Amino acid sequence: MNAPLALTHKFVDSVPDMLEEDVLYVSIRFRTVIHKCCCGCGNQVVTPLSPSDWKLTFDGRSISLCPSIGNWKFPCQSHYWIKCNKVEWVRFTEEIDTEESLQTQAAPELVSSEGPSKPKADVGQRLLQSMQRAWLKIREKLTKN
Ligand SMILES: [Zn+2]
Repeated sequence: MNAPLALTHKFVDSVPDMLEEDVLYVSIRFRTVIHKCCCGCGNQVVTPLSPSDWKLTFDGRSISLCPSIGNWKFPCQSHYWIKCNKVEWVRFTEEIDTEESLQTQAAPELVSSEGPSKPKADVGQRLLQSMQRAWLKIREKLTKN
């Protein structure tokens, strides 16, 4: 899990049905980046782009995301930076580790799915779902005509 991993990126208009491993799907239209968790667990990681969420840097060749990506809601709990299409794994400091696991235990997803303290990832997940629904609708129309 500490091996450096090289990613590729694709600029897309909509989310593909099947995400490939090690590919960052960048949708400027939906202001979102989607990729499969870099640990290989297969979970989809959605990072909305906004001043209060993630920022995307494209240097003409590679992509960086800021801040780091912490997949606290996945069993893998992986945490990494994406810098210039490379995955930089984060070693948990004791401070972060304790804080995050306390939060996870105090607020299980099923109990508090709504509320002011809902995790950002849920927003991303909903965004992903609505994007996929929209894309399915578009595709239905295309196949009918
Ligand atoms: Zn993972």
